[in-house]
This record gives sequence, C-alpha cells and structure tokens, in this order.
Amino acid sequence: MNNRTVIYPARIVRTMDPSRPVATAFAVRDGLIRAVGTVEELSVYPHAVIDERYAEAVIVPGFVEAHAHAGSGGMWDGQVYVGYFDRTDPDGNHWPGCTSTGAILERLREAESALEDPLEPLRAWGMDNIYFPESSILVRELDTVSGARPIQVNHANGHVAVVNSAVLRMAGIDASTVTKGVEKYADGTPNGELREFAAMGLVHELFGGGLLSLSPRTLRNFAQDAVNQGVTTITDLGSMGLLTEEGRATYTDTVDEDFPVRLNVFQFGMGLGTGSLPEATAQALAAVKQLGHSKLRFGNVKLMLDGSIQGFTARLLAPGYLGDQPNGIWNTTPEEFEAAFAAFHRAGLLIHVHCNGDQASDLFLDTLESVLTKYPRPDHRHTMTHSQLTTQAQYRRAAALGACANIFSNHLWYWGDQHADRILGWDRASRMNATRSALNAGVPISLHCDTPVTELSPLKTMKHAITRLTPSGRILGELERLDVEEALHAVTLGAAYMLKMDGEVGSIEAGKRADVAILDQDPYETAPEEIGTIRVLGTMLGGRHQNAKSGALASAD
Ligand SMILES: [Zn+2]
Repeated sequence: MNNRTVIYPARIVRTMDPSRPVATAFAVRDGLIRAVGTVEELSVYPHAVIDERYAEAVIVPGFVEAHAHAGSGGMWDGQVYVGYFDRTDPDGNHWPGCTSTGAILERLREAESALEDPLEPLRAWGMDNIYFPESSILVRELDTVSGARPIQVNHANGHVAVVNSAVLRMAGIDASTVTKGVEKYADGTPNGELREFAAMGLVHELFGGGLLSLSPRTLRNFAQDAVNQGVTTITDLGSMGLLTEEGRATYTDTVDEDFPVRLNVFQFGMGLGTGSLPEATAQALAAVKQLGHSKLRFGNVKLMLDGSIQGFTARLLAPGYLGDQPNGIWNTTPEEFEAAFAAFHRAGLLIHVHCNGDQASDLFLDTLESVLTKYPRPDHRHTMTHSQLTTQAQYRRAAALGACANIFSNHLWYWGDQHADRILGWDRASRMNATRSALNAGVPISLHCDTPVTELSPLKTMKHAITRLTPSGRILGELERLDVEEALHAVTLGAAYMLKMDGEVGSIEAGKRADVAILDQDPYETAPEEIGTIRVLGTMLGGRHQNAKSGALASAD
C-alpha cells in the first residue's frame, strides 16, 4: 500500500451517508475513503489514478454482521451437514438440504461407513425435528446408523443435540439422570435429546469439546465465507477464549494484515461452564480490550438468557406456546444475570444479550433499568440479540432505556411456517422479528444470521426482512416489512452502531475505512424476492481487494 489516491468508478455507489446517498465513484488513500463523488470531482485530488475494475459493479458499504460464530468455519471440517435447507460451504461447494428423516439417516449412514476406526465419533449438524412432526430422529433412529460408534447430531439452533445409545452409555446418562434438559421417553429412559447447555455439556468430552471449537483454519474458513458474502466486519459472538493467553493467541496469530475481514470477538460472560466470577471476568476483559487493533476487537460481552423458540426452550410470557408446551429453560438464573450484567456494565463494556422469548426480553429490560438506575452510563448501546418476540411495549421501553435490538429476520424463512403452524400460532408468528415496530419505537436495529444456525448472507437476510416470505409462500406479518433502504441500513450502519464501530465502518464516507461490498446488481433496482440472488464479486477491506470464491474479478490489490 502507498499513499496514492485511487479513484474507483462504479455503476453506482450506495453510500448510506444521508448527505450524499448516491455517487458514481469513490477514492481511497491509505486504506481510508478519501472522497465520494464523480470521477471528475475526485480527479482534483493530487496524484489521483483511476482504477476501472469496479466500473460495471454496484458498490455498497461492506456488510457488518453483528451476530455470528467463528466456529461455523469449522462445521465443514469432519462434520456432516444434515440441515433442511441447501447450503454453500466457504469453498463454494453446494450441499443439498435433507428434507426427510430418511434423507438424514441415509447421509449419516454414508458418513458412518466412510470412517475406518469403529470408535471414531461421528458428528453432524443442522438438523431440526420440527420439520418432521411425524417422524423425529431420537436415540432409536440414530442406533439404526450405529449403536457402537458415538454419534451426535446437533440441531440447527445450537441449543439441542440428539445422541445415540453409545453416547448415553459412555456419558453415564440413564433413567436416573436428573440434569435439566435430558429428555426421556414415556417409560423414563432417555430418548437421546439433550436440551440446552447443561444437558449438552454432559457429552462434550466425547466429542473433543463444544460445537464451536476454534482453530486457525476454522477462522480462515469463516473469513473466506465473509468475503464470499460481502461482509467486511463480523463478530464471534460468544468466544470462550479471551481469558487465557492461549485462547487469545488463536485470534491474534491468525488475524494478521492479510486476514480478509475485521473480527469483533465477544466473550461469553457467564454460564456455559465458564466458572469464573463476573467481576474477575470484567476486569480481565477490560484489560484485553487494549490488545485489539484495526482488524481485531476484544472486550465485548455476550450473555445468554433463554433457549430456542423452535426447540421449545425459549422463555415465553403468557399465552405461551401454541400447544401449551411447558415454558422453556433459563441458561442463567435472573439473579446471576443481574450480578453479571452489573459487573460488565460498570467495567464500561458493551453487552449483547441473547433474548429469544418475550420473557427473556422482559428480564433484559428489567435488569437494564435496575442497573442503569444504580450505575448510570451514557450511550451504552447494550443490545437484545435475536429479539424475536419482543412486544410493542417492550420496544417502547427499550427505546427509553437506550437499548438496541439485533433482530433475527432469517427465522421468518427458516422456521416461519413452523412458527405459524406448530410453535406460536399465526397471530404471534406474524408479529415476530418485528422490525417495523422496533424502528417506529425508535430502537436502533440490525439483522443477523447467527451462522452456523442460518446461512451467512446479508443479502438474503435483507430479502427476508423485506418480503417476510415463508417457504410455503405466505407473508408472515406484512406490516412489519422493511423497505430496501432500511434493510441495507440495518446490515451496514445499523450493525456497526451496536458494535460501537459506526464512526469507522458501515457507510462510505470520507475518513472512514475503505470497506465495501462489490455486487453485480443494485438491490434498489432488484425485485425484493430476488435480492438474495445478487452475486457478490468480492469486497474491499481497508482499500485492498478481496476475491469471493467463484467471484469474477481478478485478485490484485
Ligand atoms: Zn448465536
């Protein structure tokens, strides 16, 4: 890199800067945007050269994904994908979805027979029994694949796993096990389903750790996936690694000057077996915050309240689940939560809290109000992440308390039909992920994918928030739809805001980092249902071109 000014003409530049929303070129110097305008306007800058590589492309701010998991980059290494929807891995390979339990068992059998060591564990991911109400996969079904080899199949939501009898035996789980979330058949014997983290933790050791373990290769896969999808800033929302030097090294050794995305790592603040006291964790995180740099951020905190709606482990206020299923599971008690929240808040850290059900949103808001009353702090930007069932009254309260909402609009597609027909009923399903209500109440929003739970693709996420279509063709809550401008804002500047990075990324403005996504079509000129099919040609990160796998532009800086 040198200090030349390079002018990039484009078909159109959508800046997300209200004072100049549209341009036909942008100029870059030293990794920063120098100016936005026409080629003619930009040519007055000294020593400017023109680079035509994006002349036919559409330029938008690089997408910012404020809720993703870096471990998703490892899901394709030695694990078997058995999700319902088609998926593309970071190398650009296409994996067809498994739309029946027969197809899942078939894929597991294939993978099982390919393993030479008879005791090597087999792990699969992406399943959800909610798609197969007549034929669940539980321990008996998995035993038809193998009763001897340990097998674990994780649900797409990451909150439920199903294991075979070999795993139950090795982990000592039987009719006498009382851990919450160890599900049982009517006769009292375990049915293989493990709900939420206490139950799933019983079998972690057999599989060499939790679902989202990290390695340098995992991180690089994750980053390539980001480039393929036009993402220039991404999060690892729930790391267990920041409190030890060894854990931090995975990030610091890998995220170097060639790493193609900015990574913002949130540490799990409590629960899930972290063990340490929140005050000690808060002090440690405040210290490691200093170790970050322009590509790597440490020091933010993720807290977990309830579970998953489609796993029936989310905490719901009345009137509860459609079929009157029992209420869900708290992953932390309200008392522990408040103590932890207060500790991280007082240390000046940014906190994102997993709230799926409306009872979780309530607990978040009660806690935020109580903590802010005792320890006022301006511009905290604490965020409800998922915020799937947050109500009108809760959004008004969130606005008054200065909270943000990172909304899980992908659910409208992935589980929308199931939410309407089996989990919540049409009435509440059509008001879930209430993006319009949040904006009307004045709550800053973003939209996320929670990869590996759903596919990383901000363009598809925009489409889901704009159309609210389900796979069966219904519109789930037409009054909650966003327009394309609002959706693009949510996945760029909106996400940057709740990461406290909006002064730096999220829009194309002089002085900000030269992070852009390069598209082959303009989302504003594309039919809403087609926005997810717009091709990402690559990204520019800090002024350097990054090629998408299967992208068409030549790789050069
Ligand atoms: Zn998540």
